[in-house]
Amino acid sequence: MITVLRYGHRPGRDKRTTTHVGLVARAFGADRLLIVGKDSQSKKTIDDISSRWGGSFEVGFVGDWRKVLRDFKGTRVHLTMYGLPVDEVIGEIRSAGDLLVFVGAEKAPPEVYELCDFNVAVGSQPHSEISALAVFLDRLFSGQWREFTDAKLRVVPKARGKKVETF
Ligand code: SAM
Repeated sequence: MITVLRYGHRPGRDKRTTTHVGLVARAFGADRLLIVGKDSQSKKTIDDISSRWGGSFEVGFVGDWRKVLRDFKGTRVHLTMYGLPVDEVIGEIRSAGDLLVFVGAEKAPPEVYELCDFNVAVGSQPHSEISALAVFLDRLFSGQWREFTDAKLRVVPKARGKKVETF
């Protein structure tokens, strides 16, 4: 079970990025997105994708992110450019069981570095929570893609053009 915790969502400003964090989380194999605060529009967009493209991805809202981090029964991973290189720690994280992956919209408070079991860098340069999450999950699953059950739509890969099967 992999939960992504999206910290620092600013209503209005971060809607699109939060939606993309959720779509990446789902497509790259996570099970759940928890948004700190509330954004019904992001949830609606992600739920709509899930209902057509399959799987059982969930989106929820939380108020107290400290409590979520403290109470989580599993391994907490904070994605940050200041952490240890992903390739150094991914083996240990892969065998750790349930994961909570913390990503920020902005600078994370210092206590996040203490509350999490791993501070993990996807390169030691600043970029984005969307790219960091995608690369982290890709490394976690060693490049394997998840199967999406109960899909109404499925892409038939083609060298050119678009083909989509409907069920
Ligand atoms: N300057 C900010 C900081 O001090 O963390 C960067 C904020 S960045 C716009 C938003 C989020 O992207 C960060 O909270 C972190 O989760 C993620 N992120 C950005 N670069 C990263 C990297 N190289 N490795 C892992 N995560 C990264």
